[in-house]
Amino acid sequence: MKLYNLKDHNEQVSFAQAVRQGLGKQQGLFFPAELPAFDSSEIDNLLSLDFVTRSARILSACIGDEISADAVAKRVANAFQFPAPVVAVEKDIATLELFHGPTLAFKDFGGRIMAQMLAEVAGDTPVTILTATSGDTGAAVAHAFYGLKNVRVVILYPEGKISPLQEKLFCTLGGNIHTVAVDGDFDACQALVKQAFDDEALKKELGLNSANSINISRLLAQICYYFEAVAQLTQEQRNQLVISVPSGNFGDLTAGLLAKSLGLPVKRFIAATNANDTVPRYLANGQWQPNKTVATLSNAMDVSQPNNWPRIEELFRRKEWPISSLGYGAVSDETTAKTLRELAALGYTSEPHGAIAYRLLRDELKEGEFGLFLGTAHPAKFKESVEQILGTTLPLPKALADRAELPLLSHYLPADFAPLRAFLMALPA
Ligand SMILES: *Cc1c(COP(=O)(O)O)cnc(C)c1O
Repeated sequence: MKLYNLKDHNEQVSFAQAVRQGLGKQQGLFFPAELPAFDSSEIDNLLSLDFVTRSARILSACIGDEISADAVAKRVANAFQFPAPVVAVEKDIATLELFHGPTLAFKDFGGRIMAQMLAEVAGDTPVTILTATSGDTGAAVAHAFYGLKNVRVVILYPEGKISPLQEKLFCTLGGNIHTVAVDGDFDACQALVKQAFDDEALKKELGLNSANSINISRLLAQICYYFEAVAQLTQEQRNQLVISVPSGNFGDLTAGLLAKSLGLPVKRFIAATNANDTVPRYLANGQWQPNKTVATLSNAMDVSQPNNWPRIEELFRRKEWPISSLGYGAVSDETTAKTLRELAALGYTSEPHGAIAYRLLRDELKEGEFGLFLGTAHPAKFKESVEQILGTTLPLPKALADRAELPLLSHYLPADFAPLRAFLMALPA
């Protein structure tokens, strides 16, 4: 698999390099130079396979002969040890539940493939994973890498801006997992990570590697569950499929669009955001004008400068898809809460991120179409807000209940690069 840097097409790397490096020069994102395209009989064939077998075939087709098909199959089997069921919500709408992994959110899929692929390509060279999280990426990365040999993980998150339970989930592991609460918002954390990657000396000394949604292996992993969703639909539903994706950094939507480019039948995607609506405003008026990030109920989507957006633009350009074919919308907290109650009345307990995707899907779905929205997190991960909005109590899944009892092991730093650099240099091997 060859990839190029979106900021400098002359920088070309292999899959292994892209996985190790994360970002290219000038913080450019890597993008595949070529993508496989399956014809409709190959797609039908793939859809008839089980999740792990199919996912291994798709990843192998993307990666090429750089990693043997057997090795890919083993890695996928290690990573994908939980299902992604499609659950009916209404006659014409279902949800793809992506929260049955160890940290109860879709980022388990990407995080675990990323960890497996990094282990595959790194061999015996020590690496330090440095990543910023608005909540769920961190948990997924921490659990995916916990206990792996030769890998240290450092996770930055905005202090006080993620839910207490989210914090417990990944800041209580210890061992090779180091968590840092930063006095700033998510964009500040993301900026610190980018600064660290610009520091060549630091990068080399630590073998720095990123593991957030910019790493190409995460996107490849996420392509697989779009196939898994379609595999569970009827032929009729497949022919008229609209998928609504709750979006923050837009990795999930990028993966969905990549799945479509491989040949997966999807009529239309909807980019769904909260009040951090840089992309919906851009799609409406052509102006890229990020505002200051605001805190919302769907805090994993509190991102005003979504870093995967250049990949989406590149894909539309290469495929010659009109950008106007992408549906979009932003949903306020008030409407999110109302929608959660509406879903509960339909007999489905959701959470703020999924509810936003459902809202836009319900409003935009046309007669004869079938809608699917991504359920990106388990409602119990957003227990406080969901319980308050629905006036019910949610049982805590065991994974969370056990963690909630443990003490936080985080370090606290200001949003400045110098103290972070010192902290990184002083980490135990
Ligand atoms: C990360 C996250 C999102 C947004 O996904 P992106 O790939 O960053 O767009 C949505 N919902 C939940 C629960 C998340 O954790």
